[in-house]
Amino acid sequence: MQTREERIAKTESLFRNVNERIAEASERFDGGEADDAQFLCECADPTCAERLEVPLDEYEQVRDDATTFVLDPAHVRPEIEKIVRRRHGYAVVKKVNAAAARIVRKLDPRAEPA
Ligand SMILES: [Zn+2]
Repeated sequence: MQTREERIAKTESLFRNVNERIAEASERFDGGEADDAQFLCECADPTCAERLEVPLDEYEQVRDDATTFVLDPAHVRPEIEKIVRRRHGYAVVKKVNAAAARIVRKLDPRAEPA
């Protein structure tokens, strides 16, 4: 049995995994000098196909914290996340719901293996 928060956190983590591939590819093709890349909106809607233009250095900052994500500002769900930075065309959010935060930490692709 999954709670709603768990389901949301898992969906957002899947989008995060895809964005990790996008970030890797962008860095490779641009020899580390890339500025912007088209990332997927990391929201809770599994059918969301929104693309967000995010500078790679900002993306890296978002990934430094396992509980922060990039979303279309219109897709933010205040019951589980709050906006920490508002930018042109996207928002950086942090998971404030404890259950959701625990899952996204567990699924963090950059976490050190235990
Ligand atoms: Zn979305």
